[in-house]
Amino acid sequence: RAKADGGGTVRLFEDGMLERIRVRQFMKQELGGALEREELHLAYQPLLDLRSGTVRAVEALLRWDHPTKGSVSPAEFIPLAEETGLIVPIGDWVLQTACRQATEWPEDVSVAVNVSAVQFRCNSLPLKVAAALARSGLAPARLELEITESVLLHESEHNMRILHALKGLGVRIALDDFGTGFSSLSYLRLFPFDKLKLDRCFVSDIGRSSQSEAIIRAAGEMGRALSMVTTAEGVETADQLAWLKANGWSQAQGYFVGRPSRLPFDLAYRKGGQTELPSGSDARGKEQ
Ligand code: C2E
Ligand code: MG
Ligand code: MG
Ligand code: MG
Repeated sequence: RAKADGGGTVRLFEDGMLERIRVRQFMKQELGGALEREELHLAYQPLLDLRSGTVRAVEALLRWDHPTKGSVSPAEFIPLAEETGLIVPIGDWVLQTACRQATEWPEDVSVAVNVSAVQFRCNSLPLKVAAALARSGLAPARLELEITESVLLHESEHNMRILHALKGLGVRIALDDFGTGFSSLSYLRLFPFDKLKLDRCFVSDIGRSSQSEAIIRAAGEMGRALSMVTTAEGVETADQLAWLKANGWSQAQGYFVGRPSRLPFDLAYRKGGQTELPSGSDARGKEQ
């Protein structure tokens, strides 16, 4: 009996695995045509400057609307795009689209674009960034590239060469998801990042864990000592926002400030050049 049950469990497990593999295979194939079928678009999430209370930067977040599967999360399809190499043409499209759309916004608004490890491995990345800037006419200072710790897993000459080449173009470089990997401290020693983006797992602990609060304070101090802009991700409450402001953080990003939105830039926040803190429920509503 026990054996029969065990066998059934194994079969169920295998069925689940097979189904997962089939879905992944299907999604990989579908992703191949997503660009041509124009199923991809960018959503933009505001970054609130905590000193001035204005929004002068947004992060471009890739969205995939599949005709039958609906909206697919980047957490699901970015890994597939990386496995298939599709992230290279898709990443090019993201860069070009973000740069082009940003030229339509007020000139003091900059755009942040995420760069995948696979893109980062290519020697041509700096050339592609330069081309996107040239084609769009966007000032390099208005483009920020977000690189996660996992991209920089190993200290290598290649990584340093690419980072310096990008920096040489006049774009800014942000260290994304800070605190979730292992390599960030050694990279902070080696390269002058312009921005430190603290991962949202720390922010969600504000008011709940004095240990996490101590880490956030220390990370903020380190960022300031290294002349970096310090940005906290995943700010979902007024209390978190107030705490970050009181502890000297320079920027906040999260649902409390604003959801990623299909609108190129939520001009509703900007009144005569000034951006007001969202007070109504609009900013916290569903993603559009
Ligand atoms: P990320 O770069 O760390 O982007 C922030 C993620 O946190 C986004 O998820 C955003 O929607 C989400 N987020 C923002 N505020 C809050 C909040 O208050 N609470 C919570 N729970 N989440 C919040 P999203 O859009 O699902 O993207 C996930 C990841 O996919 C991104 O993490 C980024 O690593 C990657 N990604 C997105 N777009 C691109 C892209 O164009 N290229 C590459 N290579 N990766 C991308
Ligand atoms: Mg990012
Ligand atoms: Mg991040
Ligand atoms: Mg993150």
